[in-house]
Amino acid sequence: MAILVLGGAGYIGSHTVDRLIENGYDVAVVDNLVTGHKAAINSKARFYEGDVRDKDFMNRVFDKEDIEGVIHFAAFSVVPESMEKPLKYFDNNTGGMISLLEVMNAHNVKKIVFSSTAATYGEPKQIPIKETDPQVPTNPYGESKLAMEKIMHWSDVAYGIKFVALRYFNVAGAKPDGSIGEDHHPETHLVPIILQVAAGERDELTIFGDDYDTPDGTNVRDYVHVLDLADAHILALKYLQVGHDSDAFNLGSSTGFSNKQMLDAARDVTGKPIPAKMGPRRAGDPSTLIAASDKARKILGWKPQFDDVHEIIKTAWNWKETHPKGYDDRKGNQ
Ligand code: NAD
Ligand code: UDP
Repeated sequence: MAILVLGGAGYIGSHTVDRLIENGYDVAVVDNLVTGHKAAINSKARFYEGDVRDKDFMNRVFDKEDIEGVIHFAAFSVVPESMEKPLKYFDNNTGGMISLLEVMNAHNVKKIVFSSTAATYGEPKQIPIKETDPQVPTNPYGESKLAMEKIMHWSDVAYGIKFVALRYFNVAGAKPDGSIGEDHHPETHLVPIILQVAAGERDELTIFGDDYDTPDGTNVRDYVHVLDLADAHILALKYLQVGHDSDAFNLGSSTGFSNKQMLDAARDVTGKPIPAKMGPRRAGDPSTLIAASDKARKILGWKPQFDDVHEIIKTAWNWKETHPKGYDDRKGNQ
């Protein structure tokens, strides 16, 4: 039986497809390539190009494939864009989940692992953030993902579709052999932007705010390597396969790094000066986000391999140096 990965041409999806195949799974991918790259998909996966919201298309995929479970990455995820275009986010993310669950239910597919986010918590009341803490998003992106969690909950109650919601903190890094990596247009995430400056593609980094209530005044975030994240999805699938009930897990390192510390770490790793300046705060940025991640470790048996941001940045830098233009350097790019 196959695992269907939605958004498998994207950054995290492509690394997860790769890890699933390395672990012997039969994998099918659905992606509309709106932000993903065909060249990122492991060639052993069967690829269906189309939109999760297109029920006719999805029904054809489910008719053709013998699907055991779904891993759902397909979404928009740029916070500032979601502030300007909230309906785009509710349509693609939340609307996509409704269509998907209808198709899953019609085909009697009852397991889903879902990309949720720390953005569902909003401004935390306490650090580290526990899964049971209040979820009060401060932007439409986080709200769209929280709504998806709630829709899955009620679909479990009504139809018995079991889910694991994985709430990622800050994801970074690339497959260490440099064959796949992060390639977003435009890029908005801190680590790839710092590396664009290191590579001479941007003149300087702007750090968004140094007047936060943190040790050096810049935001503090919790970084997790994309392959460790990919492995957590496989553990979550196994968790559902053995019959556990629906649940939610934070995925982070439980260690915080400030934006200034990330810049210093990237300077160490790359040996480049990486010019930087301070800029105003970015709307919607919580001061500090650090995960309590003991639940995933204890219950899923998750053991992250990358516990040092230098190692995480090193793998991202290797991808950047070997693919300066991202997937444009690869045959078959979309
Ligand atoms: P990405 O944009 O690289 O990947 C998303 C993929 O989904 C792309 O390949 C895109 O083409 C596809 N897609 C989007 N809408 C689709 C639709 N309607 N139908 C079919 N395909 C569609 O993003 P990513 O960074 O890999 O993030 C993956 C998931 O993880 C997202 O759901 C995001 O919300 C979540 N997440 C990411 C981070 C992070 O730090 N990158 C943090 C928390 C949560
Ligand atoms: N950031 C920054 N400059 C940039 C991009 C990001 O200072 O050019 C900061 C951002 O304000 C946040 C941190 O880096 O404090 C991580 O941002 P990112 O967008 O990577 O992830 P988020 O925490 O928003 O999910």
